[in-house]
Amino acid sequence: MDSIFGILETLDKGFVLNWRREMHKCLACLENVEILHKGNVRSVYSENLTYNIMRCISCDLLQTVPQPTSETLNDIYTNNYRYDLHEIFKDEKAFRAKKIGKLISPSRGTTILELGSGNGALARNLASRYFVEVTAVDFITNDIFPGVTFIESDIESWLERDSNKYDYVVMSHTLEHMINIREMVPRICELLRDNGVLVLIVPNAKKRSRYWGYWQVPIHTVHFTESTLCQLFERCGVKKSLVKYAAIDTLGLLATFANIFQTDGKDFNSRYAIILRAISRIFRQTYWLGNSDLIVFLAKVG
Ligand SMILES: [Zn+2]
Repeated sequence: MDSIFGILETLDKGFVLNWRREMHKCLACLENVEILHKGNVRSVYSENLTYNIMRCISCDLLQTVPQPTSETLNDIYTNNYRYDLHEIFKDEKAFRAKKIGKLISPSRGTTILELGSGNGALARNLASRYFVEVTAVDFITNDIFPGVTFIESDIESWLERDSNKYDYVVMSHTLEHMINIREMVPRICELLRDNGVLVLIVPNAKKRSRYWGYWQVPIHTVHFTESTLCQLFERCGVKKSLVKYAAIDTLGLLATFANIFQTDGKDFNSRYAIILRAISRIFRQTYWLGNSDLIVFLAKVG
């Protein structure tokens, strides 16, 4: 199966989907560099607009062009984002949180900052299983949970005002949504204590089937591979200590089904919602077999 995607990727880069060279400012290098373009990428969030996936030929970082403004993103998060689907996949998210929690296995009493904590599944798992203190930042409201301080804030303004240092900083499916990564990366690293660990979970841009077009533009502003992600952070004194790949794209698959069935999370007992949850229950077991997610641990050298 992988070889089929390999052939498609080669065709895609070369001929079929119109990679072409243009000059653009790279988000990471901040220089005008010659880039390769993958044209006409659409997603459910950009029905009327097409975006390009740009690859910087200097640092290799894949990025969405044009970059969305914060107004565009706010509009999508307010009007188009499928929070209802998150509700249907709550159990699968809790399952994944358990796997990530086990991978981190923090010592009792350590402090963790989670940036982009969503429904709080990972924060709650860490606090209840490992007896750690979690500060969880997101603009979503969450119920009080022992050991977790939920902060309702956007990440950028939290980074401006947080003066603490943490044993762990965790970002799960968050970094690829940011529009100013170059300014954020050093600030994120500053929040780590010496020997602290940064845990980053992002969609794996190298996953073969990504070339079919599931890029989630424009809400995914950057598309990371292991090397581009590590390179971006290693500039500010953190070093790669562990890399894992996980998950077949069950959430993407389920979202596709949900769109076909026109179901949503408010309709919890509909036949389709029940089928979706059953599919999720089977496929989630394959967590460590997939490569849809890229998980990178980086340690701050003390
Ligand atoms: Zn670059």
